Amino acid sequence: MDHFLRRDGRLCAEGVSLEGVAERVGTPAYVYSTATIVEHVRRLREAWRPAEPEIHYAVKANANLGVLRVLREQGVDFDVVSVGEIDRVLRAGGTPARIDFAGVGKRRDEIDRALEVGIGTFNVESAPELEAIDEVARERGQRARVALRVNPDVDAFTHRHITTGRCENKFGLDFAAARALAARAAGMPGVRLSGLHVHIGSQIVRVEPYAEAVRLALGLARELRQAHGGFERLNIGGGFGIHYREEEAPAMSAFAQVVLPVIEGSGFILQMEPGRLIVGNAGVLLTRVLYVKQGGQRRFVICDAAMNDLLRPSLYDAFHRIEPVVSRGGEPRPVDVVGPVCESADTFARDREMPPLQAGDLLAIRSAGAYGFVMANNYNARPRPAEVLVDGDRWGIVRERETLDDLCRGEHVEPRWVD
Ligand SMILES: *Cc1c(COP(=O)(O)O)cnc(C)c1O
Repeated sequence: MDHFLRRDGRLCAEGVSLEGVAERVGTPAYVYSTATIVEHVRRLREAWRPAEPEIHYAVKANANLGVLRVLREQGVDFDVVSVGEIDRVLRAGGTPARIDFAGVGKRRDEIDRALEVGIGTFNVESAPELEAIDEVARERGQRARVALRVNPDVDAFTHRHITTGRCENKFGLDFAAARALAARAAGMPGVRLSGLHVHIGSQIVRVEPYAEAVRLALGLARELRQAHGGFERLNIGGGFGIHYREEEAPAMSAFAQVVLPVIEGSGFILQMEPGRLIVGNAGVLLTRVLYVKQGGQRRFVICDAAMNDLLRPSLYDAFHRIEPVVSRGGEPRPVDVVGPVCESADTFARDREMPPLQAGDLLAIRSAGAYGFVMANNYNARPRPAEVLVDGDRWGIVRERETLDDLCRGEHVEPRWVD
């Protein structure tokens, strides 16, 4: 479901012409649809209604302040992985006490800052991390609320870069380690164990492994609650797959239908941390064709967006639908859609059937709302794109395009000699 639709053959975001946006802000540019974000949150709540879960949006999927503001207005809370993300949530008006702080490598200064602003829960992934949180909290005279992230050793059947729930992955504690740590935590005055957390990967399109991970985590949570008290929450993570291709992912309700019976009557407060599901199909990347080049057997459509703007195809071989913003028709033929960066991996699509294209044509790379701009970088000294938010018939800039001055900020032609 999304609100990018054609009117008179022209692709629009809600009531706004993407052609008009590209003319005003230039390309490449990310465009996000408020209505799509809001609708995803609504459907997610609807699907899980019997359990009334706390929804903590995973900020790393799309951390734009304008997007975070939309989510806060929907009553969504936040899941962060760094002090930088905490800062963004606070700027967008998020409530610190409802932030969850996840990640395998939290620095002491990050733990300190998180305690200072009063974040809700630390999701802990190792014994030394729990010790560090205990120590920093005691130094501050505070007691940190902590959830143990467990690794259930379940295969999520997703891309190897985004699977996180196998024992060979760096994430979480195996069950024996979690039991031992829970026992030790009882003697740590700086921490209080509030629950168990599990997250087995991203873009998960099979419900069974998901349900299995929840089943295993729930069993352990029950056991630890009985042994130590506390443990009032069960955080089932994020990872719900979306449609990059047509009909690729199960319906939102499919995960709920399988997981709800597992947790029913368990008495735990249910929590989840979806990122991609909420914003993935709420964004497109607009780019213009610079040249069309015939190279041997291959036809290359060279556009002004590149792997530095949208990394997913190069990083994960990810598939994104690509459409001309103005349909002109004509016989489709296979082309490679590529960017200008000096890497062969700078390819958005290979052998993709596209209608005839020419220089100046505007393309929309679909489903670019999650893990798009957040992974953008300045490789080849390319400024990062502008970001635009549409709301009904209105649109505005939520991030200016970077300038060349931005790119050189903090650099010195002559070293600033220190020693
Ligand atoms: C990345 C991440 C999420 C969000 O994953 P999505 O696939 O975007 O839903 C949730 N929880 C944790 C711990 C994560 O690392």
